[in-house]
Amino acid sequence: MSHNIRSLLTMNRPCSCGKRHPVSLRALMMESGALSKLPETVSALGEYKHLVMISDDNTYAAAGKCAEAFLREEWLCDGRSLQSISLSTPEGGLHATEVTVGEVMEEMGDCDLLVAVGAGTVHDITRYVATQMGVDFISVPTAASVDGFLSSIAAMTWHGVKRSFPAKPPIALIADIDVLAAAPYALTASGVGDLLGKYTALFDWRVSHIVTGEYVCETVISLEEDALAALLACKDAVASKDPAAVETVMYGLLLSGLAMQMVGNSRPASGSEHHVSHLIEMDVITEDNPALHGEKVGVAAALVADRYHKLLALPAQTLHSRSYEGLPIDRIQTVFASRADEVLTAENTPDPLEGLTAEALLSHWEELRALAKRTLPTGQEIIAMLSDMGAKSTLTDIDLSEDLWDTLWEMSPFVRRRLTLMRLSKLVGE
Ligand SMILES: [Zn+2]
Ligand SMILES: [Zn+2]
Repeated sequence: MSHNIRSLLTMNRPCSCGKRHPVSLRALMMESGALSKLPETVSALGEYKHLVMISDDNTYAAAGKCAEAFLREEWLCDGRSLQSISLSTPEGGLHATEVTVGEVMEEMGDCDLLVAVGAGTVHDITRYVATQMGVDFISVPTAASVDGFLSSIAAMTWHGVKRSFPAKPPIALIADIDVLAAAPYALTASGVGDLLGKYTALFDWRVSHIVTGEYVCETVISLEEDALAALLACKDAVASKDPAAVETVMYGLLLSGLAMQMVGNSRPASGSEHHVSHLIEMDVITEDNPALHGEKVGVAAALVADRYHKLLALPAQTLHSRSYEGLPIDRIQTVFASRADEVLTAENTPDPLEGLTAEALLSHWEELRALAKRTLPTGQEIIAMLSDMGAKSTLTDIDLSEDLWDTLWEMSPFVRRRLTLMRLSKLVGE
């Protein structure tokens, strides 16, 4: 194996940030044919008796059927039960909503261990159900498409609003390289987009640390930076769609998921680029955009990086302190319409900018400019990385008008209660 993946199991140790990061992962396997190790992994993890496997139509065919056969042959015996729930994929794709969660809960019988066989959505549903029921779960990813496999956050669309709920991370992950390599390349390219989004996510985290003193952990940040370095080191292999390269994309995605698990939230992996993606997914400024999560994140990362560099290129003395008058409630109500109340109460109360001033932001301006120079590629550089690796890189690529960018930049910060430079920029003007 080209990556020392088992070392990830030892991250649960005292950290230089002064915290001990919880890591629940007890078994991790990424190799060709790994699926066949599922029965022995389940047995080694404990005395589980009632296993429920969750997949969707596509992922059942890609890996679920095979996983089920292995479990029936080598794990199932008297006193144990195995149930397979394969969710049907509606037109427009399966979503992690209160409806799909309800379907799973209603259908499932006795259960003390869940197995998620699928990509991001199946994992979000499983993670949410596992948390609700207080049972463990095992992750079996079928595509290197998102970084959520090891994370402890369930990204749900709850009554039409994108929400992140704290949820259980898996106790084991089994990634079969043959399965990942057989997935459509668009899914791997989406994983590339999700990973390149770490540039802006990490930048936002450090910005907030500099401006507000928000907790930051450089060990966790270095995991994300390792993920990016591993990806860029095999750029050409990814670009040539070499099946072996999918292992590197997956490795990066696992590091990123682990980073979230260690901190207990998505801060290390999600900043303004994810807020833009979430706003698109909410269908309030555009409808039914079919782009994959990582496609939107990659495109947004390039746009955000470009705007950040332009903003920080302005000398502090040319920026005036805009007198911030609080949340633009009318505008939020207009844009988010029926979702406005939930957006306002769940993500904007209290206003993340409360207590912050333009002076506080501008007093750190030089430091932020230096940080951008040191750690944040330009928008053009991110576009080049994305397109070199066969990933979508512009709004046009994901069937959106380039004209939408101004609205996305203006409204995306309100999607999440998390400080980013995109949100902080509302304190200053030219
Ligand atoms: Zn730490
Ligand atoms: Zn993501």
